[in-house]
Amino acid sequence: MQSNLAAGGSRVSLQIDVYDFLKRAPAISRINFAYRKFKIYPSGYTDDIAKLILDRNILLVQASGSLKKRVAASYHSSVDILNVSTDFLLSNQKDCAYLIHECTHALCDWQGLGAVDVKASEGMAFIAEAIYWIASGNSSPMHAGRIREAAFAAAESVLGGTYAIENALIEDVEARVGAEAHYARKPPAQFNGYGKRSLGDRFLRAISHEANGDPRPPSPGGIRRGSL
Ligand SMILES: [Zn+2]
Repeated sequence: MQSNLAAGGSRVSLQIDVYDFLKRAPAISRINFAYRKFKIYPSGYTDDIAKLILDRNILLVQASGSLKKRVAASYHSSVDILNVSTDFLLSNQKDCAYLIHECTHALCDWQGLGAVDVKASEGMAFIAEAIYWIASGNSSPMHAGRIREAAFAAAESVLGGTYAIENALIEDVEARVGAEAHYARKPPAQFNGYGKRSLGDRFLRAISHEANGDPRPPSPGGIRRGSL
């Protein structure tokens, strides 16, 4: 029996499936907005992040060990690892929405936005997730909860034709992110791009990818950046 499960849970077939999903999911073409000075755009997912995952410059790992029980997915910008839960399925629309949320963090990292307050980094990710969710045919937030309700309203405005999201909508999302203990204690996200890592981060990244079964650990630095 052939297995494509590498040690540590980085599956080649999952990477290809996620690549195909990012390339083809119609709802992704609607994720296009400005959030203050930041920009989130469809080709960031369909071209940049899809390719980074396919080339294993972002290592996609399906493993429960590093994920808390109720967390469906997570992205680690210092090591370029995207974790999804063990029961992650691309046929599950919610899992896809979680994936879009994490890919939004990865896109901010790819753009090299630098240190970004957690309220803004989560705000962008929740709004992108909500746009995906609504554009996939849903008419109410994915889950009840203050952040997702505010993100839903901002997503509706984008889908209604707004490009630069109104400040009041952004502030509402951010106030709700800031009110969650889970986020309130987090330091700013460090979105340092893929060619601008510190030596320490490059080392950590290489050993983390290798430990997760990547047969071809990334060479440090020097990856060409895509469209911004
Ligand atoms: Zn997030």
